[in-house]
Amino acid sequence: MRCDTETLATRPLREEGAFAYWQQDIPREYWDLSGAELVERVRLARRKLGERLIVLGHHYQREDIIQFADVRGDSFKLAQWAAQHPETEYIVFCGVHFMAESADILTTPDQKVMLPNMAAGCSMADMADPDDVLACWDELEEMGLASETVPITYVNSAAALKAFCGRRGGIVCTSTNAAAVLRWAFEQKRRALFFPDQHLGRNTGLKLDVGLEEMALWDYRRPYGGLGGNTPEQLERSRVILWKGHCSVHQRFSVEQIERARREHPGIRVVVHPECRMEVVQAADCDGSTEFIVRQVTDSPPGSKWAVGTEINLVHRLAVENPDKLVFCLDPVVCPCSTMYRVHPAYLCWVVEQLADGRVVNQVMVDEETARYAKVALDRMLAVK
Ligand code: SF4
Repeated sequence: MRCDTETLATRPLREEGAFAYWQQDIPREYWDLSGAELVERVRLARRKLGERLIVLGHHYQREDIIQFADVRGDSFKLAQWAAQHPETEYIVFCGVHFMAESADILTTPDQKVMLPNMAAGCSMADMADPDDVLACWDELEEMGLASETVPITYVNSAAALKAFCGRRGGIVCTSTNAAAVLRWAFEQKRRALFFPDQHLGRNTGLKLDVGLEEMALWDYRRPYGGLGGNTPEQLERSRVILWKGHCSVHQRFSVEQIERARREHPGIRVVVHPECRMEVVQAADCDGSTEFIVRQVTDSPPGSKWAVGTEINLVHRLAVENPDKLVFCLDPVVCPCSTMYRVHPAYLCWVVEQLADGRVVNQVMVDEETARYAKVALDRMLAVK
């Protein structure tokens, strides 16, 4: 985040509002419980709550969390599920900050969304600080380019940035609908500012025949006035300005891994997430959201072979649930998403037991104004065909 005094003096910071996350220590006893004891205590607490509580589990959660999930899916599917069930009073979202925020925005004021561990964020979402995006927009305004630019935020971003887009004629996208959303943006204006994931933005631009020379990369670590490391001509020429963010999990996959998989397993199919680098997506057979990856593997005939470029917990689960196929992760040493991994059964048990005792803890609440504008951007996305 920039902190030069001139900017602080001339531009209001935190215009868009941001939720502060803090995780309190949970009682020691939870860490001393065995896996079986945790399962039993969650079961007992849930019995008390009945249908008032639903546990949602993102595909990247570990197995000892997924075992408790009533519904599993990608971030958008889960947020939509929450929105379609206004009768559910408590939603425990086993995922990361931005997912719980989206669920809170899309649910009614009577519903309460909770994260088991408030420290579970997303390193990619954190690469787009609302202040930095505002500073970028200011620079585009000074150049006279903002009025011809549509801001697009990937759903993996803070609610404050969804509100930023809602206020400025912008929109949200997911990895499923990114191409349709970018097409929509080009129908509105000449250019899009795409954040926080450069790779999804670049891969999507290429699918719409935007050339690499028409894409500028905005380095948010450059000082204010530095045009994100671009020349004025590069920005004027651009159709897409890509924010220099990335997913630390998906950026690890490489073309060499794909080549090795093809060498060692002739006939194998390679499917990757579009948060992977451009050259990896181009070397794969297909790319798409986590839901797309799940469908590709699940719907393929017995005997199929799949090398998968996405988070390891999902790949392991696909391998277990498709024993008649060969399914493995492209990267043999890939780590799980470290922030998703912060959701431990001990936290889940604590949240659910507190609820059963009538106490709501770890509630994620997006303030009314931020939620209103964020919903404008989300609704625009839902209207895009
Ligand atoms: S896998 Fe990547 S994008 Fe998803 S939560 Fe983890 S860091 Fe964020």
